[in-house]
Amino acid sequence: MSMNLVLMGLPGAGKGTQAQKIVEDFDIPHISTGDIFRAAIKNETPMGLEAKKYIDKGELVPDEVTNGIVKERLAQDDTKNGFMLDGFPRNLNQAAALDKMLAESDRQLDAVINIHVQPEVLVERLSGRYICRNCGATYHKIYNPTKVEGTCDVCGGHEFYQREDDKPATVKNRLDVNIKLNTPLVDYYQKQGVLHTIDGQQDIDKVYADVKEVLNSL
Ligand code: ADP
Ligand code: AMP
Repeated sequence: MSMNLVLMGLPGAGKGTQAQKIVEDFDIPHISTGDIFRAAIKNETPMGLEAKKYIDKGELVPDEVTNGIVKERLAQDDTKNGFMLDGFPRNLNQAAALDKMLAESDRQLDAVINIHVQPEVLVERLSGRYICRNCGATYHKIYNPTKVEGTCDVCGGHEFYQREDDKPATVKNRLDVNIKLNTPLVDYYQKQGVLHTIDGQQDIDKVYADVKEVLNSL
């Protein structure tokens, strides 16, 4: 069974949250372009500094940069038995580039999991999000707080931060940019026959139960 997956959904839909659960049950690498950019920004690499200009405004990083990063990552050996892309592709050009990368290595997507959430809900999701500085686990101050206040459930860390682009100044533009691109992408994967849309406005565990049902059916 191969598991070449894409997790799609608007910012705040719950991709990272579900990815965290998927990797506990399925042995495939989690490839988040957002995480790759944030690591590059932290390390102040040339690519990170370039990406930061766009990320700070809530814009997409140019496709040449993003597609190149994914191509390099998918060439690594640990993706041979499957992978889970999170936050890529985000537009049709990236989707076509992904199809080409996969075809060149005789692979194809097995499923695109589309986590569907009404845009109105997302501002609150994003503005309440906080992240463990040590391990990157994601929480929400109301919907998914740590079990013990101030202590990460996953690693026991005590330091948390809010993403710069989750602050109100950036959130609106990020949502606008992504909402516009989302429908064509959904249509694209619908036509390919790999799309599975899941109701992302349920409890986190119920969303995961639905995700798991799809994955177990592959
Ligand atoms: P994405 O990776 O799609 O941007 P996240 O997984 O980081 O989204 O989730 C965004 C925020 O919403 C986080 O604070 C997370 O804890 C919270 N969240 C995720 N899934 C749900 C859900 N089903 N119900 C309520 N809040 C959720
Ligand atoms: P995310 O962590 O998925 O919310 O991504 C954070 C930011 O990184 C986005 O707002 C974009 O600026 C950038 N980014 C992430 N993935 C992509 C992508 N596939 N294409 C272009 N930019 C991206």
